[in-house]
Amino acid sequence: MTDDVRNKIGLRPVINVSGTLTALGASIVVPQAIEAMKDILPHFVEITDLQRKASTVIARLTGAEAGFVTASCSSGISLAVAGTITGPNLLAIEKLPDVTSEKNEVLLQMGHCVSYGAPVDQAIRLGGGKVTLIGQATSTHRFHLENAITERTAAAVYVVSHHVVDYGLLSLPDFVEIAHAKGVPVIVDAASEYDLRLFIAQGADIAIYSGHKFLGGPTTGLVAGRKDFVRNAFLQNMGIGRGMKVGKESIYGVMAALEAWEHRDHEAIRKRETDYLHYWKATLDGRPGIQAHIEPDPTNNPLDRLRLCVSPEQAHITAWDLAGALSRGNPPVIVRDHEIEHHHFYLDPCNLHPGQEKIVAARLVEELEKARASNEIIATPLRNRALHRFDALLKWPD
Ligand SMILES: *Cc1c(COP(=O)(O)O)cnc(C)c1O
Repeated sequence: MTDDVRNKIGLRPVINVSGTLTALGASIVVPQAIEAMKDILPHFVEITDLQRKASTVIARLTGAEAGFVTASCSSGISLAVAGTITGPNLLAIEKLPDVTSEKNEVLLQMGHCVSYGAPVDQAIRLGGGKVTLIGQATSTHRFHLENAITERTAAAVYVVSHHVVDYGLLSLPDFVEIAHAKGVPVIVDAASEYDLRLFIAQGADIAIYSGHKFLGGPTTGLVAGRKDFVRNAFLQNMGIGRGMKVGKESIYGVMAALEAWEHRDHEAIRKRETDYLHYWKATLDGRPGIQAHIEPDPTNNPLDRLRLCVSPEQAHITAWDLAGALSRGNPPVIVRDHEIEHHHFYLDPCNLHPGQEKIVAARLVEELEKARASNEIIATPLRNRALHRFDALLKWPD
């Protein structure tokens, strides 16, 4: 790609097989959203009216009563929490992050207290919430939630993610049943989920999605839910929401992405992605020290990934050194490495341009053959990764 803007400004032309990652620019924005942003940028609009139009589209796709667009799912969490604390009280909205109400506790299962690049509990605290963790890391029982609810409880937050503990915790229907029995609204972080209707259908008062993940929209968050809760969250734009604002292009762009999502040929996309996985698996099968398995998405999104398990003794390289070599290569290939200490990483097919699957396969083969030809096993101590994890970041912008 000679007209690749990345060459022009001196950025590495990374190939993303890690999934939808903010640090890599989220996802490939669909052409309909790009067009929409171009169309609206030269014009003035009344933003509140544009958000009304967005509400209609969000409501249609999610089955919720209303919705609006904000900067990110993370900001959606802060605004939704803030709305449950302030209600429509404009003075309370201006006072945040100082909280005037005693009723600001937000319940969160300990196994849901994760980081998606920033801590979810911080997003709650930004909205004025006082996080009350319930249960333990790998267990929440009904009695934990039932007994945690008091007259000071403003909301309960439920996180759907591959990051959360995936056993021993309360299901969303149980969580909703208990919370609603005591009049507590439930806010669902569904940032990375394909199913735009499920969580509202399961009783969530607010469900929040990222516009820039599977939807392929511009960087945005979609807040959908019961009209009064959505309105109270929207009103935060007069307060803490100001620093999370989105422009006309983002609102209109994500509306277009939502409409494109409605008409997308999901089966054809899934087939293309599955074909990549089989192609990579066929390329890797039989190579010494490499096991490749196709695995379903942990939160049931209609997406599989290839898990690549590396035995250093036979492959002559560790999983993390292999991932590192791929990311330093030309072109850089960034794999999904959040479980790398288990000696495996994943290849995620959902953000590839056609043809890139071949480059990924070729780079894997190249690095694996190089390692096999080396007399010693390439094995950087895992501890070094942790020690130096933030070195480069802490030197930014140098
Ligand atoms: C990505 C993600 C977020 C953050 O979403 P942004 O829109 O990037 O703020 C929050 N929660 C979960 C579960 C995520 O996967």
